[in-house]
Amino acid sequence: MKVFYPKGYETYKGPKFENPSRLSFLNFIKGKEVSYDTSTLKAIERLHGKDYINKIKDLKNSESNNLDLSFEKSTFLVGANAVAATIEAARNFGFAAVRPPGHHASSQPRGFCYFNNILIAVNHVFPNKKVAILDLDAHYGDGTHEFALKMKNIRYFSIHANPEKYYPYRKFKRDNDVLIDVEPEKVNDKKFIEYVNELISQIKRFQPDVLALSIGFDTFFSDPVIGFLLKKPSTYKEVGEILREEFNKSFAVLEGGYSEHLPLLILNFLEGFFGLENIQFKESPKKVVKRFRKKKGATYSLSNSGEIIETITNIKTVSTYNRKEGMSYVLKGDSVVEFQKIMITDKQFIEWKKVGLLNKLYNMGYEFDVVYEPQQIEWEKLLKQNVNDIKVKGDVIIIKFDKHSLFLKKHSLVDGYVVRLYERD
Ligand SMILES: [Zn+2]
Repeated sequence: MKVFYPKGYETYKGPKFENPSRLSFLNFIKGKEVSYDTSTLKAIERLHGKDYINKIKDLKNSESNNLDLSFEKSTFLVGANAVAATIEAARNFGFAAVRPPGHHASSQPRGFCYFNNILIAVNHVFPNKKVAILDLDAHYGDGTHEFALKMKNIRYFSIHANPEKYYPYRKFKRDNDVLIDVEPEKVNDKKFIEYVNELISQIKRFQPDVLALSIGFDTFFSDPVIGFLLKKPSTYKEVGEILREEFNKSFAVLEGGYSEHLPLLILNFLEGFFGLENIQFKESPKKVVKRFRKKKGATYSLSNSGEIIETITNIKTVSTYNRKEGMSYVLKGDSVVEFQKIMITDKQFIEWKKVGLLNKLYNMGYEFDVVYEPQQIEWEKLLKQNVNDIKVKGDVIIIKFDKHSLFLKKHSLVDGYVVRLYERD
């Protein structure tokens, strides 16, 4: 068995995007369900210290204004099970399909993370080995790196959105660790593979006994939290293949990735990392493809060699269009002639509330924060128009006024939200 997942993961609702459906690829793939025991708790204690476990147990939502965490009845249980699943993955050189993720957790839980899954496992399973941590999540794994600073046998290698501008907004330094800070909107599939190869050559110089991979899929273009330009699911397969070729002993742990494409991206990665022949499907790959076909926005087919090929057909995007500030994709097809980026102030937000527009959105299950400074938009005019239609496409909400379409990207607690106004002809 190559895939390990935490028992009860579906009972932990999670904050915002970090929800149980992230592991829906397990509908297709066989994995081993894992629960924690006393040795798991000892392993957690070894990295985080004794008090930390109790702290996580005792935290309640009311005591924390940290919106990117969710203290539920099952938070501790699923968090500890995720650690146990990661330990199993490390022992078996497999894949820990875990949530909550872990790479932001150190002395505090943060960024959807409570326990630093990967380092707890490394520390527990390979205490005296040279271990290279490769972190390919879109975000810098500040928690992992902070812990790693104290460990001589571990080195940290990562490519991520520049943390001066993007979450987690902090950074550590150590000689021989390699951090590649990038601007997400400049990184496409080709560039990403180049960076991965660059990191691999650095890692090889370190000659690790084991490679531990923190793999995130929030580098995919459709991800709601950040604006990388990776568009081919097969890029993750390629990453997996390269790592399989280069390192004899490796295991991987799931970190971020919140788009509707996540199951497919994980499947691609597993195919590369283990080889299709080593993945145990719950049903024939052909049936899996059929099931995928039911999903809107993409078509799936099997290649001659049995690989799952995805073609994104329906997600109409102009991805290079004004992607500054990690902005969302633009949907084509609505007669958009021109657009202006708008930014809402508190005052405007209140005005919006007044006209009941946001109430409608709240009723549809969306929440919004207020970010960014304003620009020259004629709000008065906009607010006088009728709301003709509210549509939801993926994580974008489109509100059609008489003369304007307003595109709201679903709330992202990691990077704030983005609003754009499109003027129609
Ligand atoms: Zn991330």
